[in-house]
Amino acid sequence: MNIATKSSFVLNRRHLLGIEGLSFDEIVGLLDLSEEFVALNRQVEKKRTSLRGRTQINLFFESSTRTQSSFELAGKRLGADVMNMAVNSSAMKKGETLIDTAMTLNAMHPDILVMRHHASGAVELLSQKVDGSVINAGDGAHEHPTQALLDALTIRRNKGRIEGLTVAICGDILHSRVARSNIILLNALGARVRLVAPSTLLPAGIERFGVEITRDMREGLAGADIVMMLRLQRERMNGSFVPSVQEYFAYFGLDTRKLAFAKPDALVMHPGPMNRGVEIDSTVADGAQSLIREQVEMGVAVRMAVLEALSRNLPNA
Ligand code: ASP
Repeated sequence: MNIATKSSFVLNRRHLLGIEGLSFDEIVGLLDLSEEFVALNRQVEKKRTSLRGRTQINLFFESSTRTQSSFELAGKRLGADVMNMAVNSSAMKKGETLIDTAMTLNAMHPDILVMRHHASGAVELLSQKVDGSVINAGDGAHEHPTQALLDALTIRRNKGRIEGLTVAICGDILHSRVARSNIILLNALGARVRLVAPSTLLPAGIERFGVEITRDMREGLAGADIVMMLRLQRERMNGSFVPSVQEYFAYFGLDTRKLAFAKPDALVMHPGPMNRGVEIDSTVADGAQSLIREQVEMGVAVRMAVLEALSRNLPNA
């Protein structure tokens, strides 16, 4: 059975490089289309043919489990031929530049390139060099648009809305592309965003993003509908940003005591991978208020929606 989606939403742009620049209607259009894929993914027959004949290359320069497998499943469920490029054993290890790799791949006529890279801006650079659509799967500390979309979908399904909710984003904001994309999206949809972090993990000038800032979990979580925890990104830290993991957990780690500062029906999120006992305690991560597993489910649906909405705009679509 291959029923066409009800939503005919088209993303009238060639690439998805970030949430920044997306309109309210584009964000809501993607969330509505994602809902249809949530339903499809819960059926036995999950296949569509909308990307049949298309080639999707996943180019991950940073390791990833959920994002890469989620994009792979999304492309396959829509009928694309999906290739995961093993960057660690590629010519880039032998000194080839990103541009050379991009031009080599471009010569194979991929329709869609999904890229993750440790440098902010690398995905945009790629998009200027290739003919197909480019999707940002995370670039440095810049953006991770599909993560913010899947987070918004998870919130909307559980709270019925985004507008007017108070969302506390807690932890390593400085190194987080997830925080940046979420701040832009949640603001665009009318949520109140609060950042909770030690001073060392807050980027300079973050107030300009229209957020409230606090360095105290009790204050930050008071009245929150959603508590979004971030991973302490130790691989991006040169030097010491927190005195010790134990001290960080004592002040900023989410446990049942701190979660009680939020609204009684507050829900807990984390983009993964989690550092249990560092930014989040297992009792909360696996507790009744946690949406963490649902976020992973929403990830596949959102990536199908992005692939579908971009592909409707590809030449010969
Ligand atoms: N998986 C997310 C990312 O790629 C969050 C994280 O790594 O902490 O940005």
